[in-house]
Formats: sequence, C-alpha cells, structure tokens
Amino acid sequence: MKRFTGQDRSITDKWRPATLAVRGGTVRTDIGETSEAIFMTSGYAYDNAEEAAARFRGERPGMTYSRLQNPTVEMLEKRLALLEGADAARATATGMAAMTAALMCQLSAGDHLVAGRALFGSCRVLVDTILPRFGIETTTVDARDPDAWAKARKPNTKVFFLETPSNPGLEISDIRAISDIGHDAGACVVVDNAFASPIVQRPMDLGADVVAYSATKLLDGQGRVLAGAVLADEKWMNDIYLAFTRHTGPNLSPFNAWVVLKSLETLDLRVRRSCENALKVASFLEMRVPKLLYPGLASHPQHALAMQQMAAGGTIIALFLDGGRPQAHALLDGLELIDISNNLGDSRSLMTHPASTTHASVTPEVRASMGITEGMLRLSIGLEDPADVIDDLDQALAKAGL
Ligand SMILES: *Cc1c(COP(=O)(O)O)cnc(C)c1O
Repeated sequence: MKRFTGQDRSITDKWRPATLAVRGGTVRTDIGETSEAIFMTSGYAYDNAEEAAARFRGERPGMTYSRLQNPTVEMLEKRLALLEGADAARATATGMAAMTAALMCQLSAGDHLVAGRALFGSCRVLVDTILPRFGIETTTVDARDPDAWAKARKPNTKVFFLETPSNPGLEISDIRAISDIGHDAGACVVVDNAFASPIVQRPMDLGADVVAYSATKLLDGQGRVLAGAVLADEKWMNDIYLAFTRHTGPNLSPFNAWVVLKSLETLDLRVRRSCENALKVASFLEMRVPKLLYPGLASHPQHALAMQQMAAGGTIIALFLDGGRPQAHALLDGLELIDISNNLGDSRSLMTHPASTTHASVTPEVRASMGITEGMLRLSIGLEDPADVIDDLDQALAKAGL
C-alpha cells in the first residue's frame, strides 16, 4: 500500500468537500488502480514471526485481522471522517449496529441515558427494552423541548441520544441547545444523523460529540447494502468505542464498505438533487392533503430551526390523511411509479405506512407520542424527475378519494 494521498491530512486539509467525497481516504496499491481496491480478506500474512509479534505489540504499523483493520473499510472510514469534519470514523455492519455500539460502549449498569422519544423504531426498542435489561436507566423526552432535556438530567446521566429530523415524524431538535445542556451534565451527546447526511447537517459543528449513521440510507443511497458508521474524536474512538467493538465485532464487510465508498463519490450530487425534488413534491402535496410535514416548507412548525441547522429540507416528507389506515393503504395501493417500501434515502422514491411497518413493534401509545397516526404516510424522495413523482401521487391521491 502506497501512493498515499487521500489519507494524508496535510494534503486533504486543503481539499473542499466535493473533492473529499471523491478522493478522500483513497490509498493506492503498487498497481496504481484508479478505483479503490476491494480487500476481501479476513487475515494478513507476515514476512516472519518477529514481524507478527511486533504488530501485535503495536510497535509496528500493519494490519493483523479484519475485525481490527481492513484497507477497504479504512478507506471508507477516512472518507466519512473527512466529509463529517470528524477526527475518526468506524464503519459497522448496519445502522443499528452503529447505534447499539455507540451507546453500549459508554454505558454500564447504574448509568442513565436520556433519549428523544421520536426515534427510529429499533432505536426505541434499544432504549426502552434492551438497555434496561443491562441495568441502564433510560428516560425519553420530547426532543423538541430543550427544557425537557434539562429536567431529565440526573447525577448518573451519561448519554444524551437524539435523532433530527426524526423518523418518521420529522421533528427537529435544537442540536446546539441540547448539546450545551448535555455537556453541563457531563453527558456525551450522540446524534443519529441518518435522515440528513453530512451534506445537509453536521451535528459536530453544532456541539455534538458523536454522530452515528445508518449508511443503508442516503450514504449508500441506492438501496444495495446495509451499513452504518460512528464518528467522534480520536480519544473517544480509541478509549471508549474501540475498547468495546474490537471484542464485540460489529464490523462492516469489505465488499459492502467498497459499495458505500463508491456511493460517497456522488453523495453531494444525490442528496442535493433529492432535496430539491422533495421540496417540489412537498409543495405539490401541500395543496392536496389535509396535513403535511416537510422541514423545508414554512408550514413546518420548526421550519426556522430546521433552516438554521440544515442546509436543505431533507429528502423525507410525512403526510397525514383523515381516512386512517384504509385511506393510507388505498393511496399506497394506487401508486404506479413510487414503490411501497419501508427503506428510505434511495434513488427510487419510496412510500410506507409507519404504523403498520417500521413502527409496528412499538405500542400504539408510544406511536401516538411520536406523532404516528393511522393516516400517516412517509415518503422518501429519490432521483426520478419530480414531475413524474408528482403525476404518480396525483393519480394515486385521486384513487384514494383525494
Ligand atoms: C434506518 C435507520 C436506522 C437503522 O439502520 P439499519 O441500517 O437499518 O440498521 C437507525 N436510525 C435511523 C434514523 C434510520 O433511518
């Protein structure tokens, strides 16, 4: 491995984001391949026994085992860190592996976690049921209200965990205010940034300590692989995160890392275009449905805050129909172009009914507290011509009686 350009900070520090997205993190072998190599290897061979021993003692650079290091995964991690403006990144097999590791690595029995209550369904299960099994106390709050975070603090509070915009209710939380409150209590502030991507929002610039991703969403953006990532400063990554994950192994496969690495080359283009498309579709839908939430529209109750901390309104729209589940399902069944799918952040526009899919595993009371009604639909806008997406919605709305 040589021709080291994309991992040398003295070089990459001069690069602008679009350049980092294409070249950041790249390391070339002696062959000089232009596109990054896929190292599908679990282990590494050594020239002699002393070389192996020296690497295990940490005295010589070099890789030892792919649970600990892999060249392709490392290229992805370096590129992600550069895009986020973070010291360090680690890739994981899924977004949930990233969330679980980012929380469990720093929580022990007797500690307390405060989380926003509007979280991705599996994150809610993690907070409400899994962490408490290990003696970790958890409190969920209305994440939009900074006072609620302040009131929830206890002497044993170790972590604040939030998601903004939230899934699927598109609630916006004030990252800067909540980070200040968390730091006052000595807590580590972890932000799930899956709905925004580093193109739309950089939580660390607003005071967050750790950013976690489902890279399955916008980072891959083409619905191909499951992946996740955790980003933080070097010290936290080494002392806290790696102390946990080196031995628990939530690693990403080198092949999947390569897929996401290639996706990052077009992240900026894809996310910006999807956000532009989403704004057009949301503006159309606003005239046709009883209620709609899109952070990029003035009708969103937290539009001002969204525009303060986000570079665009994002790619997700939530719509609310008066006819409950029957009308929501009728609209889905009437679609001809947009797919019925619970994935999001794909180049294909996708629509789902959260109450019967992504959030079916949480109780109706929890759903209600997250703003998920039986008539709610979540629409993820992709890269098709927005006029075609609007035409499809137009005819499906008519079939659903709207
Ligand atoms: C999808 C998603 C996750 C979980 O990611 P997976 O890759 O599906 O494991 C976590 N948080 C948010 C906000 C998500 O949208």
